[in-house]
Amino acid sequence: MTNKCIVIIGAGASGYFTAIRLKELNPSVEVMILEKTGKILSKLRISGGGRCNVTHDCKGVSALLQHYPRGKSFLKKIFHDWSVQHTIDWFESNGVPLKTESDGRMFPESDSSETVAQLLEWKAKKLGVELMTNASVVTIVPLPAGGTYRWQLNFNTGGSEVATDVVLAVGGFSKESQYNMIAHLGVKIVSPVPSLFTFNIPDATLHALHGLSVQDAKVKLTGYPETYHGPLLVTHRGLSGPAVLKTSAWAARWMNERAYCTTALVSWKNLSEEEMREFLKTTLIENGKKRIDNVSVDGIPRRLWDYILQRAETPTDKLEADLSKFEFNKIIENLCRMPFETDGRTMFKEEFVTAGGIDLEHVNAKTMEIKGVPGLYATGEVLDIDGVTGGFNFQVAWSTAATAAEALAR
Ligand SMILES: Cc1cc2nc3c(=O)[nH]c(=O)nc-3n(C[C@H](O)[C@H](O)[C@H](O)COP(=O)(O)OP(=O)(O)OC[C@H]3O[C@@H](n4cnc5c(N)ncnc54)[C@H](O)[C@@H]3O)c2cc1C
Repeated sequence: MTNKCIVIIGAGASGYFTAIRLKELNPSVEVMILEKTGKILSKLRISGGGRCNVTHDCKGVSALLQHYPRGKSFLKKIFHDWSVQHTIDWFESNGVPLKTESDGRMFPESDSSETVAQLLEWKAKKLGVELMTNASVVTIVPLPAGGTYRWQLNFNTGGSEVATDVVLAVGGFSKESQYNMIAHLGVKIVSPVPSLFTFNIPDATLHALHGLSVQDAKVKLTGYPETYHGPLLVTHRGLSGPAVLKTSAWAARWMNERAYCTTALVSWKNLSEEEMREFLKTTLIENGKKRIDNVSVDGIPRRLWDYILQRAETPTDKLEADLSKFEFNKIIENLCRMPFETDGRTMFKEEFVTAGGIDLEHVNAKTMEIKGVPGLYATGEVLDIDGVTGGFNFQVAWSTAATAAEALAR
């Protein structure tokens, strides 16, 4: 056999994109995708609430890198070589133009993930990529040197395939044991923990506010150094929204070590304490003739204002002039640092990812080849890389796939 025979394990976004880019760059290579289930691109189809948040409108590489709690420095060159603009151009030139929402998330103009899935499926077929479903790879065995093939892949069904090169595009797993398929090759795994989750808060008074949201709140976990801000949503289980998801991504491991039991301090506006004092004072003076519970506070929904006053134990029949310094300070405390005890997490319905996976120290960022294991490559979520919500995880799938394809096509 003169041509390379490349087998990609996993029919997800990164597996499909690796196969397509490989055939685009070098039509003479033989490419096969093996998928353990009977379906392809399953996660992509349900992604972004069925709309597929393909990427994020973040054109500069340094700005893009700020959205990755894990993998930031590893991704630098990869994003230079396959940027957000490359993704936009590729989809556009293949008949799937993307549109940008006000928060920067990019979706297909059709607003349907099916459009993206169908494009990838059609394109791979057209380029001659072979697909085998219901083929769960259980072991990857190196073959003796000198032969045509370097690898034998064994399936759970007893069947097998051989390959010159193998691309692991198997996505993220929740348990370290699920990476056993490659552990015997000496590939180091960073133990997986979930990222992008919402906070469970066992507080019925908070649950009663479910559906309420604020535009720009701050979330700080007691003992964790950073504070994150963004929209915040109260759910029937606790807190959600971009501010919480961002916090869950950056503090994914820290929260896992504490079994998700910690205290979240919420500032209902993205203001410093000094700014909040000034803001509240001005608001109350402007509404000096109104009872405190009738004051409308900019950016704080009515029900939330009542809740803040209740938590601050403020007598609601008072006017601004009657508030004692102590009472004013208690309102400020609840506006700036309302504490909530978390006792667990819930996966966010629109997007969740694994933090952990193949240790990046063992991967060559120029080729996606595993160091010391020639002919074995890895792309997408199987790597110890993850981004915050907003299209950043698919961008990793496209960029790492493009890098691997470029190297393999040579
Ligand atoms: C509900 C949900 C919504 C999401 N929405 C978004 C979004 O809108 N935007 C965004 O950027 N990110 C989103 N994400 C994250 C994004 O989907 C993933 O980061 C991305 O799919 C990773 O692609 P991948 O190809 O690496 O892995 P996957 O898409 O997980 O594909 C891996 C494939 O490998 C197969 N496989 C695994 N083991 C084997 C084996 N042993 N043998 C053969 N096949 C195997 C799996 O069955 C699977 O089909 C979402 C995630 C979820 C769960």
